[in-house]
Amino acid sequence: MFDSLSDRLGGVFDKLRGRGALKEQDVRDAMREVRIALLEADVALPVVRRFIDQVTEKAIGQSVLRSVTPGQQVVKIVNDALVEMLGGDTTPELDLNAAPPVVIMMVGLQGSGKTTSTAKISKFLKDKQGKKVMMASLDVNRPAAQEQLKVLGEQVGVATLPIIPGQQPTEIATRALQSAKLQAVDVLLLDTAGRLHVDQQLMDEMKAVSAISSPRETLLVVDSLTGQDAVNVAQSFSGEVDLTGVVLTRMDGDARGGAALSMRAVTGKPIKFAGTGEKPEAIEVFHPSRVANRILG
Ligand code: GDP
Repeated sequence: MFDSLSDRLGGVFDKLRGRGALKEQDVRDAMREVRIALLEADVALPVVRRFIDQVTEKAIGQSVLRSVTPGQQVVKIVNDALVEMLGGDTTPELDLNAAPPVVIMMVGLQGSGKTTSTAKISKFLKDKQGKKVMMASLDVNRPAAQEQLKVLGEQVGVATLPIIPGQQPTEIATRALQSAKLQAVDVLLLDTAGRLHVDQQLMDEMKAVSAISSPRETLLVVDSLTGQDAVNVAQSFSGEVDLTGVVLTRMDGDARGGAALSMRAVTGKPIKFAGTGEKPEAIEVFHPSRVANRILG
């Protein structure tokens, strides 16, 4: 995760730390390299500009340059700015404070890892938080989608709503809510239909399901490997539904980190989970400070 970005930044900071005393020009040279590293990592340009301006302003202050360990101080300033860029000091928790069944609606493009993430989050809530969970697939467009969720449910030990062929997504959502109530389920995850690109019919379907089920969380699943496209997808979805957070998948293969680093600043939406592999347990709560530590090594 973030290997190439981490290597690049590591090189810059080793140089800074090695210098002992620092002049303003040294900081500016280092920041030029950080800027290139972030752009190569596919971080959105306005986000990079803001980041470099803020860090430079703090780092060329006399209290830093005249301190005993100026290199360390600059690295600390970069670290703090990275944490801020990734979403700030506090970890964005799932909000499950509502009368059960609390609904989590999962949305996203086809292939982003939405169904897998639905199963992963269900398992996480069951195993780590002791919740009684149910999942329902509302994807009537892709023939195998409902079956796929059922198989995943069996794998992770979470109940899925029985499949009734021919039902429409809003009918399935209504049935899922009734069933979850009857069975005293704490959290109900609704896996909505994927789409190839942001299209109006499916957006309308998503809104209709949202209106029926009043989700406490609407999580958008995006593939971190798609970089700025992932951020653009998040922008499009957040114009249509009230997203409460993002699940960033395939972080295990993401050497660059552009989507993770731009998401919060561009969309205002917190990343709540990171997908880190294909297995059902390969999901992590997204802690901005831990991720920043990983990037800075
Ligand atoms: P959907 O069309 O959005 O529902 O996508 P799926 O959930 O079916 O996932 C598509 C593929 O991506 C599957 O092969 C998953 O195993 C894989 N996948 C999902 N999340 C991750 C992840 O975090 N890391 C890796 N390496 N693969 C993932």
